[in-house]
Amino acid sequence: MCHWRLMISSMELTLADVRAARTLLADHLPPTPIWSYPLVDRATGASVLIKHENTQPVGAFKVRGGLTLLSQMTEAERRHGVVTYSTGNHAQSLAYASRVFGVDCTVVMPSGTPVAKAEAVEGWSATAVRTGNSLEEAERHARKIAEETGARLISPGDTPELLAGVGTLYLEILEAHPDLDAIVVPIGSGTGAAAACVVAEALAPNCAVIGVQASASPAAHDSWRSGTLVARPNRTAVAGLATGRGYALPQRLMAGRLSDFLLVTDEQITDARRLLATAAHTQAEGAGAASMAAVMAHPQHFAGRRVAVVCTGGNADMSELSTVASETERQGGTERQGGTERQGETERRGEKSPAMHR
Ligand SMILES: *Cc1c(COP(=O)(O)O)cnc(C)c1O
Repeated sequence: MCHWRLMISSMELTLADVRAARTLLADHLPPTPIWSYPLVDRATGASVLIKHENTQPVGAFKVRGGLTLLSQMTEAERRHGVVTYSTGNHAQSLAYASRVFGVDCTVVMPSGTPVAKAEAVEGWSATAVRTGNSLEEAERHARKIAEETGARLISPGDTPELLAGVGTLYLEILEAHPDLDAIVVPIGSGTGAAAACVVAEALAPNCAVIGVQASASPAAHDSWRSGTLVARPNRTAVAGLATGRGYALPQRLMAGRLSDFLLVTDEQITDARRLLATAAHTQAEGAGAASMAAVMAHPQHFAGRRVAVVCTGGNADMSELSTVASETERQGGTERQGGTERQGETERRGEKSPAMHR
């Protein structure tokens, strides 16, 4: 079989790279569903389409990147294996893709990572190493393993093949719905949002790409606003959005292309998970509900608009789910934040949105 090679230089990502990734992925992943829900539209005052990446085989969009990366490696590279550092979905994605391609995979996780997350990785036949007090220490350990074994060290944020792969999700959205006003993308390292910017610029220049991060972990947000890579406190409970620093490659691609970057609180994310659970029969993890949270929390940007909300993932443990389901929490959250219904009323006034100007 002939393999497509992505024409990626380390500096750029083009629509052609994303299209090549889609060809590679066609053998492995069907397109994911995108649906609208009347009760979501009513609660937000917007016309919302939800892209269901929670239906991917590892429960998150990142598998598109992992499979693209592994399918691009040469036989010689594959023999040496891959090593990475992660606490969550990147780990599972790389483990899954490595199993598909028969490649050894080691994931270094900070020692505080829940055992269940290590087990999920081992479930895909990868090796999980829990060590170090932070992701930075895990990264150092992964680098050492790479030096000792010759395995390829995979950065979760600065690996162009991962961006090309996750970009296919935005091809699917914009080919099916070329008339969208905005796509709202949750951001941790920024691979998904950077790829969205590249695809939207080429296919739908009038569609705004809007990023969302947790206000308790604003490193990507502050990096984008300041135009430099910064480190910030990393205190959100929402895995997937919890990054402590800006990543160079996604930030370079988002500069001048991302239309706006919004922040939401962890409580607003929990409210959005409730709306997705009850109005869209969707179990989103926190990061997977962050886009929905931004549409609910910043109605002036979205009222009356056609908006795609990416539900990037659905992985959650029982203690998270019980918080989402807790009625007392819900009432507390409603008081604190004004509540979904009240926000919906405000939104219907439909002021012109600053975020829509590109
Ligand atoms: C990783 C992840 C994100 C953030 O994606 P980046 O490409 O790192 O910005 C959002 N949602 C989920 C579910 C994730 O796993």
